[in-house]
Amino acid sequence: MKWIDLSVVINEKTPVYPGDPKTKIEPAGILEKDGYEDHYVSIGTHAGTHIDAPRHMVKNGRSLDQISVDKFIGKGVLIKISDKKFDLDAIKSTNIEQVDIVLFYTGISEVYHQSEYYDNYPAITKEIAEYLVNKKVKMVGVDMCSVDHEPFPVHRILLRNEILIIENLTNLQELENEEFKIYAFPIKLEIDGAPARVLAEIH
Ligand SMILES: [Zn+2]
Repeated sequence: MKWIDLSVVINEKTPVYPGDPKTKIEPAGILEKDGYEDHYVSIGTHAGTHIDAPRHMVKNGRSLDQISVDKFIGKGVLIKISDKKFDLDAIKSTNIEQVDIVLFYTGISEVYHQSEYYDNYPAITKEIAEYLVNKKVKMVGVDMCSVDHEPFPVHRILLRNEILIIENLTNLQELENEEFKIYAFPIKLEIDGAPARVLAEIH
C-alpha cells in the first residue's frame, strides 16, 4: 500500500483565485517568549486544495458540517484530459460507479505558480456534469483552480445535486494506471467550503 498526497502546501505564497483574499499567517504565541508557538491564520475558504459544499453556489444548500462523512471517502477514478479537451465520449468509455470520486487530470497543475493556471484553464462541460450527476458520483476533483468559468454552470449542476467539488489538486500523475481510494477531509466549517487534506491510497 502506498499513500500519495494530492494537496498543495498552504503558506502566504499559495496562489489564490483572482479576486479572492490572500492568505495571511501571523505569529500569535512565540516559543522563546510565551513557551509555545501558535498563529493567526486568515485564509479564503477556496484557497489551496479545497472542497466546495453545495452552499458555495446553491441558496440554502448544505454547508460542510452538514455533509455525511462517507462522502469524503470513496473509490477513485482518474480520467486523463488531453490537450485541455473535456470529451463526453471519452468519459463515457470510463467505468464510473455510484460510489466513485472522479478526478480529472489535465496537467495544468504543472503551472500552478504561473498566471496561465488561472488565465487559461479548461472547463468541464455541462453535458459531462449532467452525466456525472446521473452516475451519482460522490465528488468530482480537478487539478485546476475551478471546474468551469463564469457564470459557473458546472458548479451549479454538481452542487445542486450534492456532488462535492475538489479544486487545486496536485500530483495526479502519480495515479495513472493505478487502483486507488480517495480520502478528502475539509475542516468542519459551518460554511461554503474549506481547505482539505486530500490523499490517495494506492492498492
Ligand atoms: Zn472552490
